[in-house]
Amino acid sequence: MQYFSTRGEGSPLSFKETILTGLARDGGLFLPESIPDVSDKLDSWRYMTYSDLALEIMRLYADDIPDSALRAIIDKSYGVFRHEEVTPVVEVGPIYILELFHGPTLAFKDVALQFLGNLFEYCLEENKEEMNILAATSGDTGSAAIYGVRGRERIRIFVLHPNGRVSDVQERQMTSVLDDNVFNIGLTGTFDDCQNIVKELFCDLEFRDKYKLGSVNSINWARVLAQVVYYFYAAFRVQEKTGAKQLRFSVPTGNFGDIFAGYVARQMGLPVDKLVVATNENDILSRYFNTGVYSLGAVTPTLSPSMDIQVVSNFERYLYYLSGNDPVLLKQWMAELRSSGSIEIKRDPKDELFVAGRGDTEMTIATIREYWEKYAYLLDPHTAVGVAVASQFMHPDIPMIALATAHPAKFNDAIIQATGEDIAHHELVEELADLPTQKELLAADRDVVAEFVRSRIEAGGKNANGDL
Ligand SMILES: *Cc1c(COP(=O)(O)O)cnc(C)c1O
Repeated sequence: MQYFSTRGEGSPLSFKETILTGLARDGGLFLPESIPDVSDKLDSWRYMTYSDLALEIMRLYADDIPDSALRAIIDKSYGVFRHEEVTPVVEVGPIYILELFHGPTLAFKDVALQFLGNLFEYCLEENKEEMNILAATSGDTGSAAIYGVRGRERIRIFVLHPNGRVSDVQERQMTSVLDDNVFNIGLTGTFDDCQNIVKELFCDLEFRDKYKLGSVNSINWARVLAQVVYYFYAAFRVQEKTGAKQLRFSVPTGNFGDIFAGYVARQMGLPVDKLVVATNENDILSRYFNTGVYSLGAVTPTLSPSMDIQVVSNFERYLYYLSGNDPVLLKQWMAELRSSGSIEIKRDPKDELFVAGRGDTEMTIATIREYWEKYAYLLDPHTAVGVAVASQFMHPDIPMIALATAHPAKFNDAIIQATGEDIAHHELVEELADLPTQKELLAADRDVVAEFVRSRIEAGGKNANGDL
């Protein structure tokens, strides 16, 4: 399988090259040259374990990695999950909840980032190379990425988070990792500032090459790929139980990476009838899917901080398909968006796949309370946004699967606010309170960040002796 950039420049890359490159050199995002149709394989995949299913799906895209190596990467990645099904589905009242939070940092991002960490290690070992990962986080990516690569020989990781704007637990999950290949940076700015600085440094090709930058942000194709697997897994579980032909998924959405994986699953032939784009008050996507106008606003902090985003990086992948696979038109759109902050792009009226809605703070709280009182099930605030918005798109014969993207114990304040009770606990969270932490505070300035990264790489740390 070859991969090309949405902006159309450069020659196609193999899977391994694509993963190591991260963001395309022309500033675009990578897409596979084709999406395989697996409709005729669904029945034979139906009863597979999570890891077996992951292998079947991933080998279609990672065809330059031998099956035995890919299997080892998958087994290692999902062996650390605390549930034997990896991503179990539970029926709760009117909805099915796909629990994606059984990984080491209790967020869905572990599903992709455990895989990516092992994949990087495999590729770097093979090429005898090293990599310096630069990542922006609104909370959960940072810790999941750090847990994906901590302590690895050939990798350093620099994680930028908006200082004071991630939850206490999220911050501790990152800053309590003291491995000497891990650098936490608290930036005086928003998540979008963090993301813009990372993007700018990636676009500085000289800097990027010199310091061998790698990306774990959701633009990395391997993250999308890892996420495709659980759409299949969940669909099979719910079909087993209900016999339903079609399914709907509701996805708490920020950077459009998770739901884009659902779109890929649908393109591969999974019978998905609707994908519900659920946003919080930062509703640029919800407005877009309801009006056709994509216009940037200011970031509003909410109870679901991992969705407090305006610049939606993965949306470019969807826009590429919407442009009729036309990189010239796509580049025009991106330029217009940059200059005017707003763009109108009519959707194909036949495309009824995506529907969208906004779940604000009041709805989030009410939904957490309702699910606790009626069903004794605790939703984290991100998941609650997805469940709240899903309730507007229920169909009597088509089951709704809501993606649960974080464990409620990560967002205990919201749970207390909603239920009045201090009930959201998890041993991995409790342990954090007593651990020593480490971070660097920097201004939201590209040059300041570049200098920090440069100095730490050149100062070496444990990879300094060239004896990799
Ligand atoms: C990252 C994240 C999201 C948003 O996922 P995207 O792929 O960015 O749309 C939702 N919920 C939680 C808990 C997250 O960490």
